[in-house]
Amino acid sequence: MKEVSPDYDPLKVEARWQEFWRKEDIYRFRHDDLERPTYVIDTPPPYPSGEFHMGTALNWTYFDIVARYKRMRGFNVLFPQGWDCHGLPTEVQVEKRYGIRKGDLPPSKFRELCVRLTEENIAHMKQEMNSLGFSIDWSTEYRTMDPDYYRRTQLSFVQLYKKGMIYRGEHPVNWCPRCETAIADAEVEYGERKTVLSYIKFRLVGKDEYLTIATTRPEYLPACVVVAVHPEDDRYRRYIGEKLEVPPFNQIVGIIGDEEVDPGFGTGVVMVCTFGDKTDVRWVKKHKLPVVRLMDEKGRPTEAAGEYKGMTAEDARKAILERLRSMGLLVRQEDLDQSVGFCWRCKTPVEILSKPQWFMRVLDMKDRVLEEAERVRWVPEHMKTRFVDWVKSMDWDWVISRQRIFATPIPVWYCSGCGEPIVAKEDQLPVVPERDQPPVERCPKCGGEKFEPETDVLDTWMDSSITIAVHAGWPEMEERLFPADLQPNGTDIIRTWDYYLMVRHLALLGRAPYKTVLINGMVLGTDGRAMHKSLGNYVDSGMARQKYGADALRQWAAIGASTGSDVPFSWKDVEFGYRFMRKLWNAARFSAPHLSQCATPQEQAHAELRPLDRWILSRLNRLVKSVTESLEDFQFSRALGAIHNFVWHEFCDLYIEGIKHRLYENDRSASGARAVLRRVLLTVTKLLAPFVPHFSEELYQNYFAEPGRKSVHLLEWPEVREGEIDERAEELGGIANAIISSLRQFKSSRMMPLNVELRRVLILARNPRLMEHVKAVADDVRGTMRIREVEVVSEMPELRERIVRVEPNPAALGPRFRGDLKAVIEAIKNTDPSELGKMLDSGKATLERDGKIFEITAGDVKIVRETEVEGRKIEKIDITDPQLTLLVEIR
Ligand SMILES: [Zn+2]
Ligand SMILES: [Zn+2]
Repeated sequence: MKEVSPDYDPLKVEARWQEFWRKEDIYRFRHDDLERPTYVIDTPPPYPSGEFHMGTALNWTYFDIVARYKRMRGFNVLFPQGWDCHGLPTEVQVEKRYGIRKGDLPPSKFRELCVRLTEENIAHMKQEMNSLGFSIDWSTEYRTMDPDYYRRTQLSFVQLYKKGMIYRGEHPVNWCPRCETAIADAEVEYGERKTVLSYIKFRLVGKDEYLTIATTRPEYLPACVVVAVHPEDDRYRRYIGEKLEVPPFNQIVGIIGDEEVDPGFGTGVVMVCTFGDKTDVRWVKKHKLPVVRLMDEKGRPTEAAGEYKGMTAEDARKAILERLRSMGLLVRQEDLDQSVGFCWRCKTPVEILSKPQWFMRVLDMKDRVLEEAERVRWVPEHMKTRFVDWVKSMDWDWVISRQRIFATPIPVWYCSGCGEPIVAKEDQLPVVPERDQPPVERCPKCGGEKFEPETDVLDTWMDSSITIAVHAGWPEMEERLFPADLQPNGTDIIRTWDYYLMVRHLALLGRAPYKTVLINGMVLGTDGRAMHKSLGNYVDSGMARQKYGADALRQWAAIGASTGSDVPFSWKDVEFGYRFMRKLWNAARFSAPHLSQCATPQEQAHAELRPLDRWILSRLNRLVKSVTESLEDFQFSRALGAIHNFVWHEFCDLYIEGIKHRLYENDRSASGARAVLRRVLLTVTKLLAPFVPHFSEELYQNYFAEPGRKSVHLLEWPEVREGEIDERAEELGGIANAIISSLRQFKSSRMMPLNVELRRVLILARNPRLMEHVKAVADDVRGTMRIREVEVVSEMPELRERIVRVEPNPAALGPRFRGDLKAVIEAIKNTDPSELGKMLDSGKATLERDGKIFEITAGDVKIVRETEVEGRKIEKIDITDPQLTLLVEIR
């Protein structure tokens, strides 16, 4: 037998197996294997931020558990991995690192810095993924910034353009003034902001009469194009159709009636500006109002604001309010909590800007998307609601153009003469319009020969929302790889990623891209708050892994919460995972010498199974059944919890302890114990493989490896042997374990070593059936607890109780007797214990010492009694489930 280290040290073991798996190419999807059914996981391509935080570790642990489980269930699993390189976060990181803004460098130079940073970040994150033991098929690796990938993004653009599902138009869009780009509705997060509501007087034209309007954004006054009131508001109805002068800019605007006005907000009179918010956009469209372009790309007022041009919005607001105050038009101000949209990347409040943009026609697809969402299996189920609510709430098409640099170029040129867009030909892709030529020499509309390249780029979700098709090889699809079986991601990207995947694949291929969506919760800090470096509750996966190993961290991820719920990071759980492996490791080391003796089938046939063996086999089969069911339902916490419980309590504490006495014999019962020991250990090793891949591999390679079966991760998942699930065996096992546990507790409470022999134990079972059962396990109890003689009886023998001594309790006596305390204690000691006990039992005892009389009660002393059976001292132990009484002879 191999040399096996006494303690399990994950830090020494894990890297070795990672190297082995890589060399043996264990996790490769087999394109040439057409026999096994496929199982496809659409792994999210993460942003190469460079940090592998705990949330990512949790997500990938979930994916990896599924991938490993499905492989063992006989699937040819595709577990691909890519990197969603493009987009703002990387640009922001580059801007920070070099202290520049995107406009400071030529785009190609800026892009180069982004690529370099991305490559560094990927290298770091990939290393961490490998260190956590994820069974990714790295032959599938892709990067969205590579021409081979963005060729596909551009191809999807061209195809959807041809289908009329992508169009160019000028509509108001959400705009982040910090990032200086359009962003989609899905990228706007709403939150509360403290702001001030200012009440401003507007003069009615031609009258000496004013209407007061409450607004949180007086800087938008220059862009006020109309004022609205509710048509049934008696206070204002009569003003509809009249005109107002907007201070301090003096433009004249009309007063209209609109039922969307909330008469209860402010004064019930609202100004419509272009564009303060989405309601303004709706009203401008509905009432065909003019548009004043007030804000520029940086969120600063334009010349439309006159003297306030070029200020920050904040400064303009202050200056305008100051002016209004001096004019006597600022009536009053009050604080207000307001819900505001923020850029999800940089948390800057968004503005609404109208510029020509590219859009994908998604509003037309609503019904189809909702219909497909019903066919998808959502885990947990209530996450479907989030998706459905989002789809129903959408009121704008998806703006897919971005005014950034590090992204997939939009494959378009414009005619310099007439502005006609010229879209690239499919076979021309990939293209970079600034570098490449358009596919035509003359504009088909005006015949012009000069073209301008499109400088806008695509939303990064345009890259990542076709991953499922790309994983299947699109545009040359391997049909069996589409749709993906599993779409796993976090709660935070349901309305972006899950949604965009759905609309893009429906538009492109006419088919929904995934069958099951598995949603994981967010990881919280050790204190239950969102994990953040500034809060001091931040732990990254490397920190935890270097302390207790990847497998311990993976157990925290699996056990932390049911899928979909948020999970606080817990060092205690990680440490428990570590201790669990050491416990099982010790059990395996103890078992090792016995495992090799029971390998032959003949010996197994010859083995005799005792009640404890049948019990653990029954429990084992139930475990296999429940773990399998839990994994089919993606309930990792339930699955691993059941394994922990079984291994720790039933297998290690009860079963192994219960068979130790048999293992060293040379009989059929010993063969039985050995065979069962081996079965349980090997089965548990397999069940654990998806959760703790390194530890399972170490167990497998040390104790069970067979020629031709390279890795535990290539074994079949254990089957349930229904025939071994045995109610009676479990009842017997339960009885044996209850007796053994009580006796073990008895020994440890008396500081007896566990292997000290007990002379005799009487087991009292009052009903005949129970008595029958106890008799069946009496031998196991005797062997396990080292008892010379076990007797099972149905009637309580005659017990005699004797008071051995009465011990004074100075804490109770002291305050009452003070100076006489010594005398009282002497008196207690000199009285016959059984006499004294009898007196105390009847209420009180009167003692005499040195001529003084003392009265004491039972509370003043401790009465030590002994029970005897047939003149031998015994200890009585009552067990409630099942109802048994043990009489243990002490000496
Ligand atoms: Zn932003
Ligand atoms: Zn033209």
